[in-house]
Amino acid sequence: MLAYLLDILFPQACALCSSQGSNLCQACRRKLPRAELPEDLYDTVCAAVGYGPGVQRYVHQIKFGLYHTLCAEMAQMMHLALDDRGWQYDLLVPVPLSAKRLKWRGFNQAGVIARQIDAARYREALVRNRHTPPQAELDAAARSVNLTGAFAVNRDVRGMDIIVVDDVYTTGATARECCDTLIAAGCRSCRVLVWAYTAAA
Ligand SMILES: [Zn+2]
Repeated sequence: MLAYLLDILFPQACALCSSQGSNLCQACRRKLPRAELPEDLYDTVCAAVGYGPGVQRYVHQIKFGLYHTLCAEMAQMMHLALDDRGWQYDLLVPVPLSAKRLKWRGFNQAGVIARQIDAARYREALVRNRHTPPQAELDAAARSVNLTGAFAVNRDVRGMDIIVVDDVYTTGATARECCDTLIAAGCRSCRVLVWAYTAAA
């Protein structure tokens, strides 16, 4: 409802160049870098774009604004990337936010994206066990320790092929922990779909 009202009050404009008509215009979309996945991740990670200044600004606007609708463009691009790979799946599962961060932000952008990609197979099958410090504030080693045991499964996923959905893949620690949790719960396979892939610094 809020997103709907915002759309009426502020007609869609490109988040990067302000041209009217869409949240991410075709010209800016074409300028976004292609995802360059390392070979060892190619079979398990699918990304729509690589990382660059435009991508960073777009993600920042979603996380720190009320721009719920910006997720639609990301979802559309991710859908295309997923079709390209031809991966079969039973469920699309968003990386969950902690209750604390969800309250602060008002929505989980990974959940909004996953629902827009495939509403019929989108399920919030993962929950956060506890609040963990934002990954961006930690170095790589602390990141994986930070997340151990952070997630739990809230439904039967045995025998299912699952794709975990997130906006950005950096170190992959979050996505890996989600997959480990789902695999421990008995799913058949677990892959990762993100909007932007950026090699860990
Ligand atoms: Zn634009």
